[in-house]
Amino acid sequence: MSTTNLVWFRQDLRIKDNPALRAAAKTGRIIPIYILDDGNANDWAMGAASRWWLHHSLCSLDDSLDGKLRVYCGDPLQLIPQLLAEAKATEVHWNRCYEPWRVTRDKTLKKKLEDHGEVFSHNGSLIWEPWVNLKQDETPYRVFTPYYKNGVSLGVSEDQLSASSPKLDLVDTDQPKDKIGKLKLLPDIPWYEGFTEHFSPGEEGAEQKLEDFLDCRLDDYKKGRDYPSMEKVSRLSPHLHFGEISPQRVWQRAGEAGQQNGDENQAEHFQRELAWREFSYSLLYHFPKLPTKNMNERFDKFPWKDDASLLKCWQRGETGYPLVDAGMRELWTTGYMHNRVRMIVGSFLVKNLMQHWIHGARWFWDCLLDADLANNTSGWQWVAGCGADASPYFRIFNPLTQSEKFETAAYIKRYVPELKGLSDKHVHNPAAAPKEELENAAIKLDEDYPSPIVDLKESRERALAAYKELD
Ligand code: FAD
Repeated sequence: MSTTNLVWFRQDLRIKDNPALRAAAKTGRIIPIYILDDGNANDWAMGAASRWWLHHSLCSLDDSLDGKLRVYCGDPLQLIPQLLAEAKATEVHWNRCYEPWRVTRDKTLKKKLEDHGEVFSHNGSLIWEPWVNLKQDETPYRVFTPYYKNGVSLGVSEDQLSASSPKLDLVDTDQPKDKIGKLKLLPDIPWYEGFTEHFSPGEEGAEQKLEDFLDCRLDDYKKGRDYPSMEKVSRLSPHLHFGEISPQRVWQRAGEAGQQNGDENQAEHFQRELAWREFSYSLLYHFPKLPTKNMNERFDKFPWKDDASLLKCWQRGETGYPLVDAGMRELWTTGYMHNRVRMIVGSFLVKNLMQHWIHGARWFWDCLLDADLANNTSGWQWVAGCGADASPYFRIFNPLTQSEKFETAAYIKRYVPELKGLSDKHVHNPAAAPKEELENAAIKLDEDYPSPIVDLKESRERALAAYKELD
């Protein structure tokens, strides 16, 4: 006999390759729901940029579900039992999430639902769930390379992947047409206009982005991914975060494209980056305090300087270091920042400015379209040197030499347009540009563009001395 099943969409806003949806479709009619749950998320409620993405992603999902997605705002611990009872539904299906607050909530909900219906949770977001890729002694890996090698030896299951979307028997809804608008995910001031230049949220946008990357950029990924001026990365991160495409699908397609084009090496390198995402999720799951606590406790004694004005200069992209400023302005205007630049702006904040990495993580959380608790936390702990398999504390990126090495002139001129008139040679460091060149470019330091807010050599030595004290 056919049942009525709730499918609770969370970080899996797609129809294809969706294990929860597929399983529910096998046994009955489906009521698809999404719940905006800021209460349980608490400090980690979605930031402004993520909300923009979510709005559009839900619209796209709703279209794929013939307008039958039901959206709610509130506590799933109350709402789900209520919805199950109202609909006389017998099963609820969801794909698992790994953020500590979601794990706690879902466990409570499962217990609560014991007498109400059957709960089925599935894996829709990871290649290796955190309890699958473990060391021989069953403890979690803290170092990436052995984690990765073991993952590859475990293999990448393609069970989740399906050739076509499942046939769905969807229950009608009487929610109003502008139900997603009612969640009020979009800000009143439309500061997000730059987001659409590079991104198109939703399942179709994700697939297009993947295929476009494989066709046009995979062939030079390994080297090109380090050059912010080149468009050599996939920009799949927000799609992966919201689950608009499954990581298995991305892994599999990259492998196929690599084989077809003789780019196996490039494809492997790309898959390795996908595995960093898996590693971050494993860390977050096994060490749930990571978003606010140093993995390496020695860093608890680090003498951070709490300086709101320095933090503000960094946030606004007004540090006087063009590559740092370009990165911070790219973030603000497009909701994205290139990975190499994330490392450089991060190192600058925590090492040269000696501001706590949590300030950086919070700013990224609000501004990034791909803001992801696992990746953001491990990215920041890596940069600060206090995380698992972190960049050693003495590795302090020099934003000037990095800028020259990775040929960032075009990137800088794009995001810091007031420096456009400088030559590619001097745009990395206007403070050291010849007077005449500055005059010709109509740049007055401290009026049109700031002088450096900190001396690189001195601040580097100060950071090294502080880190040494921790030994
Ligand atoms: P590609 O190079 O095309 O890589 C493909 C995919 O692999 C990415 O979409 C991502 O899912 C994964 N990936 C690549 N690099 C990493 C990495 N270093 N760690 C984990 N996964 C990776 N990534 C986020 O998704 N969300 C974040 O909030 C986030 N915050 C970060 C903060 C800091 C300080 C740093 C240094 C890195 C952060 N990253 C974060 C990781 C990385 O910068 C982005 O995943 C990457 O830049 C996304 O661009 P892409 O999709 O074009 O990457």
